[in-house]
Amino acid sequence: MNGNSKTIFNSILSGEIPSHKIYEDESVYAFLDINPLSRGHTLVIPKEECPTMDGLSENAASSLGSALPKICRAIMKVTGAKNYNLIQNNGEKAGQTVPHLHFHIIPRYPESTHSFIWNPSPIDHSDATELSKAIFRELE
Ligand code: 5GP
Repeated sequence: MNGNSKTIFNSILSGEIPSHKIYEDESVYAFLDINPLSRGHTLVIPKEECPTMDGLSENAASSLGSALPKICRAIMKVTGAKNYNLIQNNGEKAGQTVPHLHFHIIPRYPESTHSFIWNPSPIDHSDATELSKAIFRELE
């Protein structure tokens, strides 16, 4: 299932809007984020128009999955960062501002101060038993 709405990333893919490209193949494009959290903050997108991960075709997912590790390696090598976050927001309420599927690769340096807010609480094992079984069944 593909999304139909054109986004700013379509304009980047078409070259209408310039970008600092770091990688491109038949199905994947990667470029530096315009408002980086750190030096080398990169966006990796499928060329397939799809807003969120659950709609991506298997072929596009496969290409994206195989491109990501090599892009991570190149960014780490060139920037010298030893740590990084790989983040992917799905839906406006989840913090997605551009509805074209994208991964953020965000290098973390010793002097980095950016943070992501996590407020975890211990798992409810009773609910988890039901939930894991239901999702497992869905995936069978
Ligand atoms: P999201 O919030 O959807 O996960 O991330 C969207 C990202 O796209 C943001 O980090 C934002 O800075 C980046 N972005 C938005 N417009 C442009 C643009 O025109 N060029 C580039 N290079 N990045 C963009």
